[in-house]
Amino acid sequence: MANVLYDALLAPHQTNDKPLLLLKDQEALRYQDLIKLAAQYAAQLSAIGAKAGDRVAVQVHKSAEAIALYAGCLQRGCIFLPLNTAYTASEVEYFVTDAKPVILVCDDANRDALQPIADANSCQLATLNADGSGSFHQQASALAPTKHIEPRGADDLAAILYTSGTTGRSKGAMLTHRNLLSNTVTLVDYWQISDSDVLLHGLPIYHTHGLFVATNTTLLAGASCIFLPSFNTDDFVNYLPQSTMMMGVPTFYTRLLADGRLTKELVSHMRLFISGSAPLLAETHESFESLTGQRILERYGMTETNMNTSNPYSGERRAGTVGFALPGVETRIVDPESGAMTGTDDIGVLQVRGENVFNGYWQMPEKTALEFTPDGFFITGDLAKQDADGYIHIVGRDKDLIISGGFNIYPKEIELVLDEQAGVVESAVVAAPHPDFGEGVVAILVAHNGQTIDIEAVKIEVATTLAKFKQPKKYIVLEKLPRNTMGKVQKNVLRDQVADSFS
Ligand code: AMP
Repeated sequence: MANVLYDALLAPHQTNDKPLLLLKDQEALRYQDLIKLAAQYAAQLSAIGAKAGDRVAVQVHKSAEAIALYAGCLQRGCIFLPLNTAYTASEVEYFVTDAKPVILVCDDANRDALQPIADANSCQLATLNADGSGSFHQQASALAPTKHIEPRGADDLAAILYTSGTTGRSKGAMLTHRNLLSNTVTLVDYWQISDSDVLLHGLPIYHTHGLFVATNTTLLAGASCIFLPSFNTDDFVNYLPQSTMMMGVPTFYTRLLADGRLTKELVSHMRLFISGSAPLLAETHESFESLTGQRILERYGMTETNMNTSNPYSGERRAGTVGFALPGVETRIVDPESGAMTGTDDIGVLQVRGENVFNGYWQMPEKTALEFTPDGFFITGDLAKQDADGYIHIVGRDKDLIISGGFNIYPKEIELVLDEQAGVVESAVVAAPHPDFGEGVVAILVAHNGQTIDIEAVKIEVATTLAKFKQPKKYIVLEKLPRNTMGKVQKNVLRDQVADSFS
């Protein structure tokens, strides 16, 4: 039997001496170096007793070696389980207890804090640091690269990615070889990625965006990747002229725009700018185009589903939308109460079905069953609408829906109005408990640098645009919105902050 992902992403590169990862202040990692390192890491995994199907938990900084560890896991048939580097030891304890990995690979700096957790869970501990050093790498370097490629079928698990868990405990999304490969093949084709591409990569690699969307497509296409430890504008301005593609979260784009060094000339070598993981404001899209002449391609996906929709490569990339269902992915928007399909421009819950959709939550069959419809669609929890031309608009999470005085209120609708007001750079709308209405609308505004927002003027404008029940009952101005590392506004944090607004 073959190994589905290894055969597609790694095997073709056995003797490829092209640079895969171009690293800052370090020699590039060539394709064949990755293959060799992965084979040593696979040998090391065997040496510690890791078998096919065992989980390998990895909380390490971004490095070429971390990618090799992912590749080594594929070769050994293990399930790669990346963890956000920001997680504390007690958070990691939950994942280790839940997933029962055979080994936890961490940074040397966290070794002491994590050792007791590993011990308590019969899990081995090894280290891998940002500079590639550490006990895992050291022991693997002494081993001959193994030629054994563990057979893995399309339905075998390749990875478990825990969801960010903004409500309740985070859940382990089980991703099969089929899920990952089908999406990679689709994206390479849809975005026309080829071996002449050079991807500018500043995303973290514990998340689906930086790990699968960026890395798997690069490997499949045989492209190269400028692999930076994280995003910063100096590096991006420096490397943009050598790149052909960039994948970013919206914050990358707003920071580049604010930097002032972005010009048509700087990006003249660029073929494609992609944005995802959080909504890109239409205003950002438009400012970016007027400054660079390039239209950002926005796409939409999730940990559980890989990528679901994308704006077209050749057709109109419409600001404020996430485009159309990708080939092989079915999407439908249904009314949350009746379950009937919604009409044009009507808001409902977005559901998706296709080979890209995960295999359920790790050891949570009941929870998994609740998230799927009887005919096999995954209920994303995102609220969306489709316009007359078929473009899908994401209008928020269903848990963000506000019900005030019995009326449903979609925060996005109010945010779009607020964003238009003088002096407002962006906004977030959340609910706070209200004695009369159940929930009351609270608007949080962020002012343009150095400007003050005339709240009374905003209220007047809002009153002419929005029905009374939708109008915010309270306004707050913050310096910036709380965001996680993927650029998502943390509405749970805001809700906590404004909880006493009406009490
Ligand atoms: P994650 O599982 O961390 O990738 O988060 C997935 C969620 O991010 C989705 O369910 C959406 O709520 C949000 N998301 C991803 N891409 C977009 C986008 N282009 N526009 C709006 N929301 C997005």
